[in-house]
Amino acid sequence: MTVPNPSSLDPADWDAFAAAAHRMVDAAIDHTRGLRDRPLWRDMPAPTRRLFEAPLPRGPTPLEAVCDDVRDHILAYPLGNAHPRYWMWFMGASNLTGALGDFLAAANASNLHGGNHAARLVDDQVVRWLAGIAGFPATAAGTLVSGGSVANLIGHAVARQAFATARGIDVRRDGVAALVPRPRHYCSAQAHGCHQKAVEVLGLGNVSLRRIPTGPDLAMDAGALAAAIAEDRREGWAPAMVVATAGTVNSGAIDPLPEIAALCRREGLWFHVDGCIGVLVALAPRHRHLVAGIEMADSLALDPHKWLHAPFELGCALVRDGAALLRTFSLTPEYLAAATRGIAAGSAHWLSDLGLQTTRGFRALKLWMSLREHGADRFGALIDRNIDQARLLADRLEAAGVEVHRPVGLNIVCFRVPAPGLDAAALQRLNREIMLDLQERGIAAVSDTILDGRHYLRAAIVSHRTEDADIAVFVQAFLDSAGRLGAAPAAGMPVAT
Ligand SMILES: *Cc1c(COP(=O)(O)O)cnc(C)c1O
Repeated sequence: MTVPNPSSLDPADWDAFAAAAHRMVDAAIDHTRGLRDRPLWRDMPAPTRRLFEAPLPRGPTPLEAVCDDVRDHILAYPLGNAHPRYWMWFMGASNLTGALGDFLAAANASNLHGGNHAARLVDDQVVRWLAGIAGFPATAAGTLVSGGSVANLIGHAVARQAFATARGIDVRRDGVAALVPRPRHYCSAQAHGCHQKAVEVLGLGNVSLRRIPTGPDLAMDAGALAAAIAEDRREGWAPAMVVATAGTVNSGAIDPLPEIAALCRREGLWFHVDGCIGVLVALAPRHRHLVAGIEMADSLALDPHKWLHAPFELGCALVRDGAALLRTFSLTPEYLAAATRGIAAGSAHWLSDLGLQTTRGFRALKLWMSLREHGADRFGALIDRNIDQARLLADRLEAAGVEVHRPVGLNIVCFRVPAPGLDAAALQRLNREIMLDLQERGIAAVSDTILDGRHYLRAAIVSHRTEDADIAVFVQAFLDSAGRLGAAPAAGMPVAT
């Protein structure tokens, strides 16, 4: 048995390491360059699955062999969201500059809990850039997190803190039992599931999150919200916070933001916008009017790993009154005392005073690099293009005899093959089969959902790689799949390209 080399983890042979690393960079570039030429997705063969059942390796493997396995068994079987016709779950398509950023951030090795170093300044700057996109004032504060779910959790936590502070309650010391009368948070029936988890982990309980019905456009009914608030006051609840969604994940619906903002101001409620999808639409010149009102929020959640295509993970929580965020999370233990010089100097607070994490990765760099490379306007133009493409897809599908749910919200199209004579369950089975056939043929990926109690397939076009020609490719492939399953709509009318 060989005794492991007790020296550091650095390469024994730096040149050999460089060669292996360059080979992997080339593999990643080739993979991305060839996305269109490969199936969007394919299932994994047995040898690949077996590799991931291997036990903990106690001894060494040559780096070259490890890299070969990564290339042949991991890079070769991705989820598919980098592909131009991946329109399934709402997520970004990543980009190689961002990937380089993640690599360089890891190589930089800095821990972003705080301290006086360049990465810390980049983190601050990226948060300021994002706050500027949202139209927030310079007094705002924010924190980079893993994604929208945690960004929304922070919004609920700051709202809970503000509710308590306004009543002279120390909720951090005394807990939710001290919140009397009980605070109530509101969101639409179409809000993301992370809001339920947020109130659950904050100890408020799911019962404290009231779901407000939506209108035919699947946006929150502001009249119903006002009525619910009045009813809750009568029944002894303390209305505390409204979550408006700017772009629902289900259908792209945008709650009436200015109306809800005004209602919150009148009623003295915290106004949070779940803008994981919608905040970045503020960059898109032809559609930014759709999200007017986000700048009035008390707190915002946004998701650069969606429409800014940052490699996962990157979300951001923003709070208009930065002091409210600090009041919620600031905690400076003796081992983190600040200094005026040296490594611990350089800022009024630690990044850990703005959120839950102590140790943090250098998430900001991947976005800092790609925003500098392309400029924010380029991302805005790509968002405009995705929204146009959704309308194009809806029109093309309808022209081919496919039923489309109207209105089309932002960049999300919900549709189904109609089959006269089939009951709802059979129709759902048929449409799901078409969806799975498209996935298994590796041509395109869409998901499915329920709107107004009816089952639809759902395409969320988020990719910066989607070209208009992909819309025609999709419609033709969809009709082919439907035809193979014996359900060609309107006898499969030819699709104009
Ligand atoms: C994606 C999304 C979330 C959750 O964000 P993650 O980054 O997946 O954690 C929350 N709300 C909305 C509206 C979203 O679209």
